[in-house]
Amino acid sequence: MDKKHSVYICTGCGIGDALYIKGLCGVPEEEGVPVKTHSFLCGKEGVELIKKDIADEGVNTIVIAGCSRRVNYDVFKFDGCIVDRVNLREQVVWSHPRSKYPVVTEEQKEDGIHFDSLQMLAEDYLKMGMVKVEKIDLPEPYQVETFTRKILVIGGGVAGISAALDAAKAGYEVTIVEKEEIIKKILPRIADKVSTILDRPTPDITPVVAKVMGNLLVYRSISHNGDGVQVNITVKNYSGALMAFALHDTHQYPVRDAEPEPKVISLGNDSDHIWRLDVKPGSSMNIRYNMPFVSDEEATSLPDLIVEGVDEGMVNGAKAVRGYVDE
Ligand code: SF4
Repeated sequence: MDKKHSVYICTGCGIGDALYIKGLCGVPEEEGVPVKTHSFLCGKEGVELIKKDIADEGVNTIVIAGCSRRVNYDVFKFDGCIVDRVNLREQVVWSHPRSKYPVVTEEQKEDGIHFDSLQMLAEDYLKMGMVKVEKIDLPEPYQVETFTRKILVIGGGVAGISAALDAAKAGYEVTIVEKEEIIKKILPRIADKVSTILDRPTPDITPVVAKVMGNLLVYRSISHNGDGVQVNITVKNYSGALMAFALHDTHQYPVRDAEPEPKVISLGNDSDHIWRLDVKPGSSMNIRYNMPFVSDEEATSLPDLIVEGVDEGMVNGAKAVRGYVDE
């Protein structure tokens, strides 16, 4: 940016009465910077004065000496220009009354003892403002060359779905994944990739998984077995405390060769298969059984597993119900 400087000094609000404005104008003039004064710079006429210089003279680096930057920030806003405000009103004139910091007489000026400290203060602030605009540049927006329009939302609860909907409305391609998918698919893939890139053994993702989960993971998988299917249920305790609960697997199909054996309660057409489990922190347990003459399709549409005795927020991969039924 080729800078074209200009300084504007407001003499309103008591500034012109307290300061020697001609002397103040000497500060930019010494540097060859044009300076203009106005008695009401924040008024229509004062602002037009600055705008005219921007339009006609190409001024783009501006120091406005008047009131605090906390006021009139919307008035002294000029697009494409560097603007700094020097606070002569509150910081100099209003807080340092002439009764306390009097003007020096012509004789006193020569004696080397007396100084017009108020005038010096104003001139120093003005110099600082001028140096500041000299040193700074307008910020440039950071532009990335490639910007992905894909967003990954972890967790399909109310918050996750709501975030996904908002992102989709804003034009992003959204993928929702559950925590189970993160720890079973995504994290292992990341670990493998890291291992390949760094040429090192695959890192242990257990601590990360524990952080992601922080609770009980229940996972049921189905595999084809002869004329039927084999059901495997894995329960892993990622929390830091022992988890004691009952796991319910309720459906209409006959269960054979179960390990461990469940307690079975008949519910009419369905049977509730119940395992009473105590899983230590960091430990996992496996349950396995066969369902003869059950198709893969029927097996994959089994009802959700139910964990009884653990708070809902602590369970992933199964429904949770409170109130543990001791057997
Ligand atoms: S409010 Fe600020 S710009 Fe307006 S007259 Fe007072 S010192 Fe000048």
